[in-house]
This record gives sequence, structure tokens and C-alpha cells, in this order.
Amino acid sequence: MQINGSTRIAAVFGDPIAHTASPAMHNAAFAACGLNWAYIACRVDPQKLRSALYGARDLGFAGVNLTVPHKVLALEIVDDVDPEARQLGAVNTVVFEPSGRMRGYNTDGYGFTKALAEDFGFNPTGRRILIVGAGGAGRALATKCVLEGAGKVYLANRTAAKLDTMRERCHVLSLAEVPAVLDDVELIVNATSVGLKPGETLNLKPGGRHLVYDTIYNPPETELLRAAKATGARAANGLSMLLHQGARAFELWTQQTAPVDVMRGALRQAVYGDER
Ligand code: NAP
Repeated sequence: MQINGSTRIAAVFGDPIAHTASPAMHNAAFAACGLNWAYIACRVDPQKLRSALYGARDLGFAGVNLTVPHKVLALEIVDDVDPEARQLGAVNTVVFEPSGRMRGYNTDGYGFTKALAEDFGFNPTGRRILIVGAGGAGRALATKCVLEGAGKVYLANRTAAKLDTMRERCHVLSLAEVPAVLDDVELIVNATSVGLKPGETLNLKPGGRHLVYDTIYNPPETELLRAAKATGARAANGLSMLLHQGARAFELWTQQTAPVDVMRGALRQAVYGDER
């Protein structure tokens, strides 16, 4: 697709942003759907997020994705916040509406539940779930599980203060208390950054009957996933979550069904260098 005077622009804003695989995924999707659209990555200083969003709106962008560190700040900038984004406490997708209003959505929660369905055939409703990590991602995923009617959601974190706002929604615990609840849960989710560096691990010790989801997708197999597979547990990495949050954002912007398999292939190529 040639960029020309009619090309519509979408973007991801983050800081840092050079590592992002989102342009590969979205540009492949636009091409597959024959859309004269282009998706770019912009490093945006958090102090300038407001002017960057207003600028994108005034330049006629279709929408943007937001990643670290912008997702919480954006709640205060957009004109309208979708109810689920408000509940999850973060905006990762902005739609610039024809009226000129900016509407903020959160597609990470959708991406997570879609990934669990696809990877494990798992629906959180009525189920017992442990989420380790109460940063932006962990709090949003725990809240999504609660909104989906999970039977019990345990949320564990190293720093106790980050659990304060979650006490009414979840059973909060320290990392030291995690082993005591493992027998009570079906799904274990790593939503910490532990595992991004090869070799580092939280030593969670899953058993063979657990489902284990690591939100980390690079490296493709963390120590947690390796340990899970070694016990016979079913395990999946975070690429499926990244894919499905992107597919939902594509649909919010274009009002077309996302070409999920094309996006998956482009993402795998961008992250792993092949389409396995
Ligand atoms: P964040 O807000 O910075 O939170 C980081 C989390 O990791 C906190 O819970 C932090 O605990 C914990 N942590 C870091 N180092 C630790 C250590 N040595 N021991 C124990 N806990 C440690 O980051 P985030 O945005 O929530 O992202 C968290 C993870 O989710 C990252 O790995 C990211 O790649 C992943 N993620 C994946 C997707 C996807 O689409 N697949 C999307 C978003 C995020 P403290 O509070 O104690 O510091």
C-alpha cells in the first residue's frame, strides 16, 4: 500500500517504544483488508501526552494505542472513558471520533480473556485464579477476571502498597503466601516483569493440573512456562494477549472484522523472526 494524500494514520505512543511489534501487526492487517491506512510508532514523553493526543486528533488520526507509561494518565485526558476502561483503571486505545471527541477504551482485558479462551478453552466465570503482579497489567487483569464473574481472584505482589486499591475486589496476598493458595487455583498468571531477563524466576512451582499463562512473550518461554510444561501443565505466553488487544483496537478504529490470523503471523515474524 502506497502512502498518499488519503492515507489514514493510527499510531502507538509509548516511552520507550523502539521495541514495539504493533506496527508490524497493524500494517499487515490494513494491507490484508485493502485499507489505505498506516500505523506508526511515536516516542512520547509522558509530560507531553496531552499535547500529543490533541495533535493526533487535530491531524486527523483515526486512533492511537497507548503503552507504558501512558495508560493511566490518559484517563484524565480523553473526553469520554469507556466504562470498562474506567473500571480497569487504564486506557490503551483511543478513538478519535468524527465529532472531534476522544474516546478511551481498554482492550487489554478483552485481549487477556480472548487469549485464555483460545489457548486453554478457559472462561474465568466461576473459576479460581491467581494473578502474580499488581502493576498496571496485573491490576487490570485481576479486575477483568472479577468483572467476568470469577469465583475467586487472588492477587499477589512484592510491594504491599500496590494491593491497597484492590482489597475490596480480590483476595490480596504477599509473594510468600503464594505457595499456600496454589492448591486452591486452576489458573496461574504471571503479570510481573520477572522472566523478561532469561533465567530469572519467581519460583512459583505450578503443578500438572494448573493452567499457566505468562503475560511475557519475549523470551517466548520463561522459566515459569518451562517449569509448568515440565510438570505436564498447560502453558501459554503473552503473545496471544498482545494479538487480541490489537485485534480489538483494529475493530474499534476501522469498524471491520480484524484479520486475526494475518495479525498473528505478522506479530510472530516481528517478535520471533518466524511465523511459528
Ligand atoms: P509495572 O506496572 O511496572 O509492574 C511490574 C510488576 O512486576 C509489579 O507487580 C512489580 O512488583 C513486579 N516485579 C518487578 N520486579 C520484581 C521482582 N524482582 N520480584 C517480584 N516482583 C517484581 O508493569 P506492567 O505494565 O504491569 O507489566 C507487567 C508485565 O506484564 C510485564 O512483563 C509486561 O511485559 C507484561 N504485559 C504484557 C502484555 C501483553 O500484551 N502480553 C501487556 C501488558 C503488560 P512491585 O510492585 O513490587 O515492584
